[in-house]
Amino acid sequence: MVFFQHLMIGLNRNMADVQLTDHFTLNEFTRSALALRHGLSNVPGVLEITNMTRLAHHILEPVRQNFGFAFSPSSGYRCGQVNALAGSKPTSQHVTGHAVDFEIPTIANRILADWIKANLVFDQLILEFHHANDPKSGWVHCSYRQNHNRQSCLIFNGMNYKEF
Ligand SMILES: [Zn+2]
Repeated sequence: MVFFQHLMIGLNRNMADVQLTDHFTLNEFTRSALALRHGLSNVPGVLEITNMTRLAHHILEPVRQNFGFAFSPSSGYRCGQVNALAGSKPTSQHVTGHAVDFEIPTIANRILADWIKANLVFDQLILEFHHANDPKSGWVHCSYRQNHNRQSCLIFNGMNYKEF
């Protein structure tokens, strides 16, 4: 209830920022250079915000706690138009608020992904645009669902997907 009261206050203040969890805000999930450039508002509904809150709680907060560094998602929620501009499929979990992309400065993405794989419940974990000879390359994409999380782990090198 407290969360939804915060949410309504936030929406009433013309999308002033809303704290989703201790260290992550709604604005960090919705801000988008693509949306700005194309004059799109990229505003999620309550369902998408609920999904982002679960994502922050079950994935981002434990990652922050373990590695001990502040970081901010590079891409969270994407409305259909922004998602299409990003070159992503309409079925992308970013559209429903289930997926987030992030990196932690100074931590190699491969180490970050391996830790998530070993320690967290998630739906899909993808090392995006990652090359084995460069552990810092690309970024981590991770999704979380309320139920039926698949624990699927993939590396995408820009051409092909393979499991890890
Ligand atoms: Zn992603």
